[in-house]
Amino acid sequence: MQARQTRDIQVGRHRIGGDNPIAVQSMTATRTHDVPATLRQVRILEQAGSDLIRIAVDNKRDLEALREIREQTDADLVVDLQENFHLAEDVAPFVQKFRYNPGHLHHKDRDQSIEDKVTWLAEVAERENCAIRVGVNGGSVDPRMKARYSDDEEALVASALEHCEILDRLGFTNYLVSLKDSNPNKVIQTNRRFATERPDVPLHLGVTEAGMPPDGVIKTRIAFEQLLPHGIGDTVRVSLTVPFDDKGQEIAVAREIIADIEDGRFRSVPVFDNVGLNIISCPSCSRVENEKFVELAQDVREMSRYAQEHNITIAVMGCRVNGPGETDDADLGLWCAPTVVNLKKKEQLIGTFSYEEILPRLKQELDLLIAD
Ligand code: SF4
Repeated sequence: MQARQTRDIQVGRHRIGGDNPIAVQSMTATRTHDVPATLRQVRILEQAGSDLIRIAVDNKRDLEALREIREQTDADLVVDLQENFHLAEDVAPFVQKFRYNPGHLHHKDRDQSIEDKVTWLAEVAERENCAIRVGVNGGSVDPRMKARYSDDEEALVASALEHCEILDRLGFTNYLVSLKDSNPNKVIQTNRRFATERPDVPLHLGVTEAGMPPDGVIKTRIAFEQLLPHGIGDTVRVSLTVPFDDKGQEIAVAREIIADIEDGRFRSVPVFDNVGLNIISCPSCSRVENEKFVELAQDVREMSRYAQEHNITIAVMGCRVNGPGETDDADLGLWCAPTVVNLKKKEQLIGTFSYEEILPRLKQELDLLIAD
């Protein structure tokens, strides 16, 4: 393994980056306000050996739950702010790191500049001794960057670089960056490009919406095998669509991949060709709109097996936060609402269908695509 050149940062008891061991992390998928269920999942992840545990907080109710969770665990906690960056001030006293998404930051408080919003976030983090993850994502790239660059990968990297520059100007150094996508090739390319520009900034690696095992494991391994040996990647998350009680799998898989790479055991091909049917699905989190989501993803995989030979991507997403954007590139996309599932063909919405109706309707669309 090539030595990493990143600076190291402090996240609670863990130091990440530099020559510290690669930290492994995951995220709870239960509803955050369901304290017993979320705590149970925190314990499952802790027992599996998760260094950091991320929790979604979207509202005051989740915030109350976070306070209670904090009292009952000493795990290093991270909060994912996604659409609501204002909550940073309320969550920071209870966690060791928070993540914001530059794409989502752009859409909130449009009258305020990006620089002002980042300044406020950095002040909160500094005051509460928190680290920050700047988490850019292929499905929610800052529209300004999308307009500026025709190349998706360039837009993703430029967005991450812009935020690093702002944080640097502010003198805030306790941050890392992630550049995620559901396509392992994009994860490889964007992280390589970013690491070339900013070899000093620690990276959090992950293939988002990798899907169900074994495909989700394979896609993640492909990306990690092309990055970690080159000293790119300081902490990792494996995102798998699995039932709540099996979330420890994400940690076991991450540790196995890291150990294999460190021992020189490689399993993937040098170039990943996305041929045949490709099903991407999010790992679910507390925002999942209906708990039938994991079952739905599994049913979609079973129903579509007959289309294995066709170069078609189907995306299955758990909620409205990332569902609409992350399904745009898929040939057929499903994203869950509380009582219905939205069905899309690329960017166009075909309609909304009940959880009972969705599979036959999806099959109709799949048949049409194949016939085309
Ligand atoms: S799509 Fe929604 S439910 Fe799925 S992981 Fe992302 S935020 Fe969570």
